[in-house]
Amino acid sequence: MNEPNLEWEKLSFSYTKTDYNVRCTYKDGKWGPIEVSDSEYVPMHIAAACLHYGQESFEGLKAFRGKDGKVRVFRMEENAKRFIRSAEGISMQPMPVELFCEMVRKVVKLNERFIPPYGTGASLYIRPLEIGISAQVGVAPADEYMVIMLVTPVGPYFKNGFKPIKVCMSREYDRVAPKGTGSIKIGGNYAASLNAGQKAHELGYSVMLYLDPKEKEYLDECGAANFFGVKDNTYITPDSSTVLPSITNMSLCELAKDLGMKVERRQIPLSELETFEECSACGTAAVCSPIGRIDDLDNGKVYTYGEEGKAGEMTTKLYDALRGIQYGEVPDEHGWCEIIEFDEK
Ligand SMILES: *Cc1c(COP(=O)(O)O)cnc(C)c1O
Repeated sequence: MNEPNLEWEKLSFSYTKTDYNVRCTYKDGKWGPIEVSDSEYVPMHIAAACLHYGQESFEGLKAFRGKDGKVRVFRMEENAKRFIRSAEGISMQPMPVELFCEMVRKVVKLNERFIPPYGTGASLYIRPLEIGISAQVGVAPADEYMVIMLVTPVGPYFKNGFKPIKVCMSREYDRVAPKGTGSIKIGGNYAASLNAGQKAHELGYSVMLYLDPKEKEYLDECGAANFFGVKDNTYITPDSSTVLPSITNMSLCELAKDLGMKVERRQIPLSELETFEECSACGTAAVCSPIGRIDDLDNGKVYTYGEEGKAGEMTTKLYDALRGIQYGEVPDEHGWCEIIEFDEK
C-alpha cells in the first residue's frame, strides 16, 4: 500500500482526492448493488430533481486510526438513522440502515491508504449524500435516487491546541423556519445560511449563533453546529425542533453524565447566557469548539467566557473523553465505535 504524499497534520477541512467513492441507485422501486467508482463526477440529467428543487441530503462522520492501529468508525448507525429522517423530510427514498453501513465499510476499506496515521490528529471524513436524479420539471418528488459516499482525509481542527472562537448574534438572520427543515440535514438549510455566515465572517466572527426563529428568545443552533453551556456542574443544551440533533452532542451528554455532571435538554433563554461558566459549539468536525465571546450585534451586549485564549475545564474534559474513545485510547464503554476489518494482504 503506497502512502499518499500528504502532510497529515497540515490538512485542513477541505477536499483531497482519494482513490474511490461508492454509489447506489434507487430505481424501479428498489436499491441496486453498491458500485465502486474512481470518477469524481456524477453524470446527471439536466432536469434532475436535485438540481432544480433541492432534493439533497447529506451526512458527515469519521473513521479514525487508533493507538492500536485499528480503524474505528464512530456511531455510524446514528448517521444512518438520521439519513433516513432527512430523506423522509424532503420526500426522498430512505436508504435502509444496513445498506448505509455496508457502503461506509466499503468506502473506508477502499481508501485505506488515506486513513491518517495515529498521532497526527487527522482522520478520514466520510460524506454520504443522497440526491433525486430523475428528470423532472413539475414540482414533485423524484422517483430515482442516488446515494454517493466519498471520503477525504481531514487534519486536526485545532492545529495549535484548543482556540476559543468568537461568535455573533443577530435577529436579522434565521437559519431555518419555525416549522421548517431545521431538524434534518439537507443542503437547502446550508444554502439558506450562507449569507448569515458570510456576514459573520466579514465582521470578524467564526459563525452566527442563531436564536429560535419564532420568538427570538431562546438559543438555537451555533452556525452548523449544536450549542451547549456549562454551569453548576450541569451540561445544558437547547431542546428545539429547529436544531439538527447532533450525534456529537448526544454523545457528549452521555459523557457528561459519566463525568458526574447533570444534563439538561431544555429551552435556553437568551438571558441565561450571562450565567454560563463555559459555552461551546459541538459537531463531528471539531468535537467541541469552545466559545470565548458572544457579541449581540443588535444591542452591543458582549458575553465572555473563561480566560482569554483558553478552553474551559469541563469542555476540555468532554473533548478529551470523546477523542479518547474515537482513537481507541480509552475503553469504548458505550459501544460507539465499529472496528473495520481489513482483509489480510
Ligand atoms: C451536522 C450538523 C450538526 C452536527 O451534527 P454531528 O452529528 O455532531 O456532526 C449540527 N448542526 C447542523 C445544522 C448540522 O448540519
